[in-house]
Amino acid sequence: MELRYCFTCDGERPVGLESRDEGYQVRGEEVRVQVDVCVCSACNRPVSDEVLDAKALLAVFAAYRTRHGLLQPEEIASLRSRYGLSQRATARLLGWGLVTIQRYEQGALQDAAHEAELRRLYDPRYVLELADRPQPGLSTREREAVRMAARSRLEAEQPQRVVQEIETGVAMAAVRRPDLHGRQEFSLERLGAVVMYFSARTTRLYKTKLAKLLWLADFAHFREQGASITGLAYARLPHGPVPDDYGLLLGALEKVGAIRLQPQGESGEVVSAQQEADVKVLTDSEREVLDRVSARFGEVTGAYLSRRSHREAIWQHRADGDLLPYDEAGGIRLLKGV
Ligand SMILES: [Zn+2]
Repeated sequence: MELRYCFTCDGERPVGLESRDEGYQVRGEEVRVQVDVCVCSACNRPVSDEVLDAKALLAVFAAYRTRHGLLQPEEIASLRSRYGLSQRATARLLGWGLVTIQRYEQGALQDAAHEAELRRLYDPRYVLELADRPQPGLSTREREAVRMAARSRLEAEQPQRVVQEIETGVAMAAVRRPDLHGRQEFSLERLGAVVMYFSARTTRLYKTKLAKLLWLADFAHFREQGASITGLAYARLPHGPVPDDYGLLLGALEKVGAIRLQPQGESGEVVSAQQEADVKVLTDSEREVLDRVSARFGEVTGAYLSRRSHREAIWQHRADGDLLPYDEAGGIRLLKGV
């Protein structure tokens, strides 16, 4: 057995390796981690060991970073490699010392200001902004390389950004005018689940018919539960009620890979699910309404639903482009018996 000096016993003692749950203090908080420690076989207390202590420290900081959602060293390294930046170029771009970035990537705990600055690098627009500043030490070639990498990153992220803007736009409209959105929050994920749900239960789901199924399901659920399912608003359009921003929303669902829109001759586009609907995001009462609406209207044509919707009071009392208020859901005759 290996002999080490033990402070408690004040002498050389045989030591062994043990995995222990140990508590450490980091920035005023206790962090507990499972670490390997060198233990004195006489008094059973830990004996310091440079290698094990260094490993423990890394584990403690990693646990602290996880708890606070801070970037881990490997995330920092991969963040700069997005833009093809070396540690040195990153330091110069940010106006930091090289040692700072090196230490962070080796596991030192970053301070809050540095964490915030690093996070901003996820946005290529910010990287472009930095590259345009007169940073000392950054060569013209490095500067140009960063610009190019940031621009191509920006382009690659464009579809995702557009999707986010559409989602945020509708979500904001839903909180501004809950009466027109059925007092429900909007999320693209839930809309996607509903669309996929209908798609799986309908032989050929035309875009125009889907619009009406969504309307019927949202208004039916509002009638019964005081909340719509999707949080969408519906506009009176010549062919019947259509979700506000319908084209944009279907485009967004297509971009995130939830659905595909296929042109079907003269009759318009068919919506087909590209994934199984995630029913976990829907409540029991929501699924139940979707089932009833599918059972009742799944096989009728969009043209039939269009004609029938024109006979509704909610329709006749409004002009094209008007949004249909949910509090008239109780009067919709199409929903009688659904
Ligand atoms: Zn001892």
